[in-house]
Amino acid sequence: MKISDIQIETVNIPLVTPFKTALRTVTKIENVMVKVKTDSSLIGYGGAAPTAAITGETLASIIGAVEHIRDHLAGMTLEDTELVFQRLNSCLVGNTSAKAAVDMAIYDLLAKERDVPLYRLLGGKAHVIETDKTVSIDTPEKMIAESKENIKKGFRFLKVKVGGDPELDVLRLQAVQDAVGPEIKIRIDANQGWSAKEAVLVGKELEARKLNIELMEQPVAARDFSGLRYVRDHLSIPVFADESVFSPQDALELVTMKAVDGMNIKLMKCGGSYNALKIAAIAETAGVPCMVGSMMESHLSVSAAAHFAVSRAIVKHFDLDAPLFCSLNPVAGGISYQGANVQLPETSGLGVEPLRQ
Ligand code: MG
Repeated sequence: MKISDIQIETVNIPLVTPFKTALRTVTKIENVMVKVKTDSSLIGYGGAAPTAAITGETLASIIGAVEHIRDHLAGMTLEDTELVFQRLNSCLVGNTSAKAAVDMAIYDLLAKERDVPLYRLLGGKAHVIETDKTVSIDTPEKMIAESKENIKKGFRFLKVKVGGDPELDVLRLQAVQDAVGPEIKIRIDANQGWSAKEAVLVGKELEARKLNIELMEQPVAARDFSGLRYVRDHLSIPVFADESVFSPQDALELVTMKAVDGMNIKLMKCGGSYNALKIAAIAETAGVPCMVGSMMESHLSVSAAAHFAVSRAIVKHFDLDAPLFCSLNPVAGGISYQGANVQLPETSGLGVEPLRQ
């Protein structure tokens, strides 16, 4: 099966509620759908969404990068799988979300050719995965209201966004825990919003207050690996990297430095499942559990993340709630939600089809 063309479609997806972190406020997703056409009747689908503040990519840059990738992959034979992924990753540096969209479409094709769901191709066994639900950074009152609403819907893990004001952040977290009760586990995500010393102060205060904190994600700046290690060395709360881990090289450096207790793998950061599998292998070898998360993305690309997530035993945490913020689904099929449970499709490939052919 030869790649004949790669086409791009975009659609704006307004969010149901604005999504706010220490880094940015998002009100819509600029969803990119990539279609990898072949000389067979099979078409592979993949998706991306730009997150300029994290990956450096914009809608225009993703489209430009996918066109560049198309020119390098056109005519290649999919059975030369390793060569295809090598070329995808070497034909331009960076541009990880654009690469992820094409990577997804190639995996979609490989699984469709074998007529199995992608997670089966990757060696996974279907199981229900339980996602957390993100609570945007806001006033404690608004965060309480959002948290309570999520608990009513059945979520048992809340990913609470903080960062920027350590004292207020402690109050925010205490307010959320008090509102939802001690059984609900809180995943803190500071999105680089603290210095290492501030993160330790906040963490020690939360430990003293006996809040039910499962982990602390990305307390410090993305490139501050020694800051992550400092926080990890001074707290019993597990410290996870998110913006610090884009590539397998980042993962190797972080585990070698013993800087983190876990890593959040996102396809938009690492360039797709080909590299995500490498990060998972490094993490597993080092005994470091992984979370699989996503940016603000639609059902399309989060479905690919879910297929990858269930394929690796080292993935212990799931942060796949982004489609729940979307006011529309740009594809038919894909993952579906029942409360906090994410169900994988049983059809071949990613299990998604565009609404319009
Ligand atoms: Mg994060």
